[in-house]
Amino acid sequence: MRVVLVTNMDDIEFVTEWSEHALRLMADHGIPPAPDNYSVWFRYASGRLPELNQEIDSRIASALPIDLDTTVSLQKKYLTEGKLTDVTLTTGARINTEVGQILKIIEESVGNSTALGATVRAASEGLTSQSSANDVCRAVEAIVNASRKMEERSTELEEHLQATKKELNELQENLEKAHSEARTDGLTGINNRKAFDEALARELDNAARSGDPLCLVIGDIDHFKKFNDTFGHRTGDQVLRLVASCLKTGVLNGHIVARYGGEEFAAIMPSTEMASAEAVANSVRETVQARELVKRSTGESLGRVTMSMGIAQFQPGDNAASLIERSDACLYEAKRNGRNRVITECHRIAAPQAQAG
Ligand code: GH3
Ligand code: MG
Ligand code: MG
Repeated sequence: MRVVLVTNMDDIEFVTEWSEHALRLMADHGIPPAPDNYSVWFRYASGRLPELNQEIDSRIASALPIDLDTTVSLQKKYLTEGKLTDVTLTTGARINTEVGQILKIIEESVGNSTALGATVRAASEGLTSQSSANDVCRAVEAIVNASRKMEERSTELEEHLQATKKELNELQENLEKAHSEARTDGLTGINNRKAFDEALARELDNAARSGDPLCLVIGDIDHFKKFNDTFGHRTGDQVLRLVASCLKTGVLNGHIVARYGGEEFAAIMPSTEMASAEAVANSVRETVQARELVKRSTGESLGRVTMSMGIAQFQPGDNAASLIERSDACLYEAKRNGRNRVITECHRIAAPQAQAG
């Protein structure tokens, strides 16, 4: 049994009025005031069921009888539990739930500020227990259209984001590749002068702050011009590759090797004392010297190449230029003293003193 809830004074006024009107009409048509009959006429008086009012009014207009039978059939048609009103109400509620879920998904993915989201919300809010089947259809259609558009937009957005992400990744890879290529020596594959300059500045800064020792080794192939002149520039290139490889594999973890110039190489040795740097440099020098060079195409022996090296250690107040200059001075000493040797700052400073004495 449907219950009409009277919740405020305005409603009480109307209900009393509708009740009196209903009882009057029932009396006019000779209808017994039983609850089911009364419910029909009370609804009619309230005007809350337009279809019911329409049918009664048209019967009156057509002078058709409105008696107990008519009242019973109207009651069955419009007011029996489970009739259209309830179906509408249930469907509306279900749609509201569905819409709520769709909205939640949409709002989660796109946000509730979009115009399409507002369309869906408006359509769902319009549905009440009084909505007709047509209203429900229209609302569902609006929701379906809106969510389809949302889905299309969301898919587009997703694809666009994926494409953008892919493009950004490629761009990043290209940048990293370009960055790496710009710092790599094309012939030997080790760091070039640019990378050397950057690394030295960085490592000097670290050493200055930490107080850790740092050594710089500069090496130069001995009599390389003669080697090139004898065996050709291309064979000379192979030697440069070999020396780079000996240097790269001969240094310790954390050491940075670079091709400093034509046939000159360098190794930055952070956290390394002079004695250790000298040992590493000598080991590399011996490895280079130990390699007998053979021309691949003919098997002809090309002899051996040797290297001279100079090493300076970072002192407070040093910058890249001053440290390079001291390493170079040691290298020059090594050349002057017969080549194929390593001269450290300590030896170089000690040497003139010994001569002076
Ligand atoms: P020193 O022992 O005094 O260093 O004598 P050196 O002949 O090695 O020195 P010099 O400076 O007179 O000659 C360096 C040579 O290095 C000249 C050049 O032919 C060679 N060279 C420089 N860059 C390259 C290169 O990329 N490839 C080849 N094959 N040779 C190079
Ligand atoms: Mg040179
Ligand atoms: Mg040389």
